[in-house]
Amino acid sequence: MDFALSDRAAVFRADVKAFLAEQVTDEVIGAMHESGTFNDRGLNGALADAGLLAGAVPGYGDRDPVELYILFNELEKAGAPYDGLAVTMLVAGVVHSVGTDFHRTEVLEKLITGRHNCCLGYSEPDHGSDVAAITTRAVRDGDGWVIDGRKMWTTMAHESDWVLLLTRTDPDVPKHQGLTMFLVHMDTPGIEVQPVATMATERTNATFFDAVRVGDQWRLGEVNGGWSVMGVALALERGVMGGTNPAVPLLRHVRAWAETAPSPDGGTMIDDPLLRERLARTAIANQVGQLLTLRAAWVAATGGLPGVEGSMAKIFASEAYQQVVGWFQQMAGAEGLLGFGADGAAGNGWIDYDARHAPVTTIYGGTTEINRNNIAERHLGLPRTR
Ligand SMILES: Cc1cc2nc3c(=O)[nH]c(=O)nc-3n(C[C@H](O)[C@H](O)[C@H](O)COP(=O)(O)OP(=O)(O)OC[C@H]3O[C@@H](n4cnc5c(N)ncnc54)[C@H](O)[C@@H]3O)c2cc1C
Repeated sequence: MDFALSDRAAVFRADVKAFLAEQVTDEVIGAMHESGTFNDRGLNGALADAGLLAGAVPGYGDRDPVELYILFNELEKAGAPYDGLAVTMLVAGVVHSVGTDFHRTEVLEKLITGRHNCCLGYSEPDHGSDVAAITTRAVRDGDGWVIDGRKMWTTMAHESDWVLLLTRTDPDVPKHQGLTMFLVHMDTPGIEVQPVATMATERTNATFFDAVRVGDQWRLGEVNGGWSVMGVALALERGVMGGTNPAVPLLRHVRAWAETAPSPDGGTMIDDPLLRERLARTAIANQVGQLLTLRAAWVAATGGLPGVEGSMAKIFASEAYQQVVGWFQQMAGAEGLLGFGADGAAGNGWIDYDARHAPVTTIYGGTTEINRNNIAERHLGLPRTR
């Protein structure tokens, strides 16, 4: 593969960088951490108005997945609230790939304005890794369906217009063959959203579905064909849509801290040989994470689904992130435990935040163990685990 960006992609990166430098202010970042909602419709809408968003939908328009990667890579490096946008663009990509004209008009065209959101309703209280075993039921009722069940970790449900909802439509066949996907409007009667706080400040939700009625036109893909829709969604989620460069802003914050923080040996921490070595190791890990993600984007750009490549990028980046933030929190001592706004907080509270955020990155979007299984089975050809 060729790692060099095309001229057009390089221009796109410059445009995105310039846009973010102006729009992602301290206020935007502060609001995201105060609210726990990593989504900013003002920013998303402005990205759309600047012509930078429609190209972010995988397969849609004339931009390719490398440009999609560039957009999320730059959002991540800027520390911008992008989780809601990433999920929304991922769903837009799924709609584009498997949806009908009705879905494109009713959902896709709205999502790309940046003024609407979608969340992911896969996981349930008892089914996360083994998501094919979910029990939320959709039962045929005349021209439509009636949905009953519970979803867990429906991040952004409280901000969303639709949920991409995985349901069981046939409990009497092998689990992967009895699933159907729907797009359900969050205003539909019978849906309740309850907040769930996390230690990383990010809000997620538990979502309840009680006799929720949806028309058949809101079904995405075939009846009992939900697993193949999941395949498209998961391949897009891991790797390309951000989440593989979390230690890039951390490196910036640690470096700024080390330039003034006193070292126990005299001078400042930036002269400490161990810290310097760890900064260098972090820079290397960031570069590798970036290249692995670029490879996943390249696979998508050349017509493939980067299922294995995305798993590799996610495992590498999230494990590296956990390791490096542990180093820096240890070296910052007590100040590394102080959060945003606290006097003397190392890196203005970013080291504390990253230490609380890093654990979840090896869980959501598929745990490290599940991604390893994916690589073992699909890349190495080892026997299936289940
Ligand atoms: C903050 C947050 C946000 C999230 N957002 C969303 C969202 O928006 N939408 C959504 O649908 N889900 C979301 N999730 C859910 C996430 O995808 C699941 O938490 C994840 O898939 C793990 O499922 P689980 O929590 O049920 O753990 P379990 O599946 O019970 O796993 C527990 C442990 O067992 C290990 N394990 C399980 N099976 C195997 C196996 N076969 N081989 C080896 N090890 C195994 C796992 O790796 C893990 O370490 C979110 C989760 C969190 C924490």
